[in-house]
Amino acid sequence: MPSYSGARKRGRSQRSARVVSTLPPQLPNDRKSFDLLSPRGQWHRLNRARGRAASRAQNQRVRREAIEAYGGKCKCCGETEWQFLTIDHEKGANHPMYAGIPRTGHEFYWALRNEGYPRKGFRLLCWNCNNAIGHYGSCPHKAKVPDDAAVVALLKR
Ligand SMILES: [Zn+2]
Ligand SMILES: [Zn+2]
Repeated sequence: MPSYSGARKRGRSQRSARVVSTLPPQLPNDRKSFDLLSPRGQWHRLNRARGRAASRAQNQRVRREAIEAYGGKCKCCGETEWQFLTIDHEKGANHPMYAGIPRTGHEFYWALRNEGYPRKGFRLLCWNCNNAIGHYGSCPHKAKVPDDAAVVALLKR
């Protein structure tokens, strides 16, 4: 079994300088186990985990800020749980008015923030309503046409 000898040579004082982190030092995609890394390698891995967690938290904060900026609830059904909400491209994401703005992901939320949360062409929807509008052209919440089951029920009468 391979072991890192540098840690032994340098002694314990070096190791205690390690950054304290509550995050697991081993991620599934890490090739080398944490214990086999040099003290410097261990320091980098712990800080990387901290850095990633920090940027995740920051991205989440920006997404929540955008959701608040767009009214905090689904325009269609009134859903207010932020995890269920998304900002919809009212004119369809391919419309030229959205040129230059990333379409999805946290880059999208950061871009909206940089643009001062433009009102035109954006609306807040929940994923359900957003999906229904995307797939069927309208949301069942606002359906003008009965769905197939309702038609079948009518014909059976
Ligand atoms: Zn909704
Ligand atoms: Zn709806």
